[in-house]
Amino acid sequence: MSTDSASIARPYDDRAFFGHPKGLSTLFFTEMWERFSYYGMRAILMLYMTTTAATGGLGWSAEEAAPIYALYAASVYFLPLIGGWLADRFIGAKNATFVGGIIIMLGHFTLAFPQMTTFYIGLILVAVGTGFLKSNISAMVGDLYSKEDERRDAGFSIFYMGINIGAFLSPLACGFLAQSEGFRSWIEKMGLDPNSSWHFGFACAGIGMGLGLIQYLIGARNLRNVGNVPVPEKAADEADAGGSNAKNTAYLIKIVVLVVAACAIIGYAAASQGFSTALSYVLMPTVVVAALIGVFLTGAQDKLTTDDWKRLAVLIILFAFSTVFWMGFEQAATSFNLFANSLTDNRIFGWEFPASWLQSVNALLIITFAPIVGAVWMYLGKRQPSDAVKFSLGLLFAGVGFLVVAYAANLTTGGKVSPLWLVLVYFFHTIGELCLSPVGLASMTKLAPARMISLMLGVWFLSISLGNYIAGRIAGEFVADAAVLMRIFLIVAAIMIGAAVLLFAISPLVKKLYTQPEEVVPVEPA
Ligand code: GLU
Ligand code: ASP
Repeated sequence: MSTDSASIARPYDDRAFFGHPKGLSTLFFTEMWERFSYYGMRAILMLYMTTTAATGGLGWSAEEAAPIYALYAASVYFLPLIGGWLADRFIGAKNATFVGGIIIMLGHFTLAFPQMTTFYIGLILVAVGTGFLKSNISAMVGDLYSKEDERRDAGFSIFYMGINIGAFLSPLACGFLAQSEGFRSWIEKMGLDPNSSWHFGFACAGIGMGLGLIQYLIGARNLRNVGNVPVPEKAADEADAGGSNAKNTAYLIKIVVLVVAACAIIGYAAASQGFSTALSYVLMPTVVVAALIGVFLTGAQDKLTTDDWKRLAVLIILFAFSTVFWMGFEQAATSFNLFANSLTDNRIFGWEFPASWLQSVNALLIITFAPIVGAVWMYLGKRQPSDAVKFSLGLLFAGVGFLVVAYAANLTTGGKVSPLWLVLVYFFHTIGELCLSPVGLASMTKLAPARMISLMLGVWFLSISLGNYIAGRIAGEFVADAAVLMRIFLIVAAIMIGAAVLLFAISPLVKKLYTQPEEVVPVEPA
């Protein structure tokens, strides 16, 4: 890295938070609480829907619950693409994050009311709020650093820790309130319906988001001008470009046409094939293709160089493989959660713990192993694998996790199995996640052309969205039958390991396309 660039005064080279800009602390704690709310609610959502009405759940079958879960989780990760776009062009990431936090909090509190309408409204609010918040808060992390600041990757790792601290604590808290016998009998003693315990779990998620918002308001000034409303700067750019107002209008028209076309396709499918067929087979592919076309239209508007296009090509390749990864990984909250609820013997020293507590394992393992995996990459230095190879390793580990869960499913013919099997599965999935996820997130901000950063983070979340959708739908096949489960898990394992091998094979090509910004920068001053 050039020392010249390090000596140029930048507004954000303060080192107040573990050697990082103070703004990182604000973003860290806000995201920690937002993820607390998301993962706490998510830990109990599938279980709430499939638990009998006699114990406070909705009493649905896995087949009925899966499409709702799939749509919800897919929306949570899809809407950040739109939220990122809105922030980049109109409202700024800082405002979007605040508005998103409020909507998320209201969503969880809505879920705290035990009615069918509040259930659906609550889910919609959480998804919409996350759309405003998720990619924008990550984009602000990227914006704390200049392109050549070497602390950027470390900043994302710290931020990732915040995510996982939230994700670790909340299933314990929300799961205890929702599912434990102890809490149920306590509220009964207080004169309340013990079946309302689930709604205490949802309310706990809302309180978490509320704490995140307070913290965001207090720390907002640490962000200085990061995430500000983009208008003045944009107006100047447009004037320079020679009155590109007309171009902008043409672009917006194209976006509107795209959205209308996507809605028409989905509407036509629903009218001709029926609502559930449209939902199962047409909705997600249409949304994903339309979103990717939208991203390209946006990119083309900003006059991309050949290098930019090459980088976008890399992003699309990473997108496809990352989707396969999340399709397996995100079964944590769906199939594995159902597995934990009905097929594992959840007792420590004779005390039965809530199945949802196992939802904390991944986050705990991330907190433990992230520094170790980071140290291994540091130790390897220049010899460390390329991003594509790291992705391929991620897929391989996740595939091995599925082989383990398939084996454990087979053992359930003899009765409930030890929860340690799931811990082992989560271990493999965590190592896989550590190879793939931080690399993916950081590549998006590194590879994206300057004005598309939030948007490209949206593309990253789009792959998680699609992965979540498929993971949710797979859970619809869940039945507590060893042979069926083993078959499902083996198919998923085969897909993941196959994808790992394919990506490994094409990784030299990906590396060729991948022009690191660092490789370009030193040429300029010379
Ligand atoms: N578990 C992560 C989260 O919810 C997944 C997304 C990512 O890799 O950043 O934030
Ligand atoms: N490891 C996930 C993420 O980084 C959290 C989880 O699935 O619990 O946010």
